[in-house]
Amino acid sequence: MTRYDVSMVITPDMQVYKNKPGKKPVLTVDSDFDQGTTYETRLTMNLHTGTHMDFSKHMSQEGAVSDGFDPFTLIRAVRVFDLTGLQEAISADDLMPLAIQSGDFVLFKTRNSLTEQFDFRFVHVDASAARLLADLKVDGVGVDALGIERDQPGYPTHKTLFDADIIIIEGLRLKAVPAGRYQMIALPLNIDGVEALPLRVVLIDNHE
Ligand SMILES: [Zn+2]
Repeated sequence: MTRYDVSMVITPDMQVYKNKPGKKPVLTVDSDFDQGTTYETRLTMNLHTGTHMDFSKHMSQEGAVSDGFDPFTLIRAVRVFDLTGLQEAISADDLMPLAIQSGDFVLFKTRNSLTEQFDFRFVHVDASAARLLADLKVDGVGVDALGIERDQPGYPTHKTLFDADIIIIEGLRLKAVPAGRYQMIALPLNIDGVEALPLRVVLIDNHE
């Protein structure tokens, strides 16, 4: 049994979307042993920093938020595909040969996983791929970029997937993970009323 932690480390100098300073996590000491009898740290962090899932409110005013999300949803089988040969985007043509099935939860490993620096040209899921994944009726899509799409006016990838009730996970770290089938265990923090939830994600290879 091989186990992989495929989550980002939350740290003040971690990569964040477009290197925006406001997206960096900030750790502040609220109490230390000079002032009190306990040590306590405050975390201030954008919910799209680090490994997380998106809800449709992220892209539309009437969209869904996190309330009532079933915490067992992301404890399930997933398929990891190696797309590290792609430079710019994942398109429908790239996905066609992969024999993705209805009900699959797919994780795309790309060259994004090979660096811990934010890459402004990160490999993203383009609108044609999102359309195909929606038509195939997958359950979820996980990517190793902090955005599932890049430079697409109107955010068609997010919207197409949300409209088809497909779960989006962003910010996976898949460098060490070979393509194949895994058991995923991912649990979101239980925060109400928000458009994204931080995730800790691990993969377990059950093959002998
Ligand atoms: Zn997000």
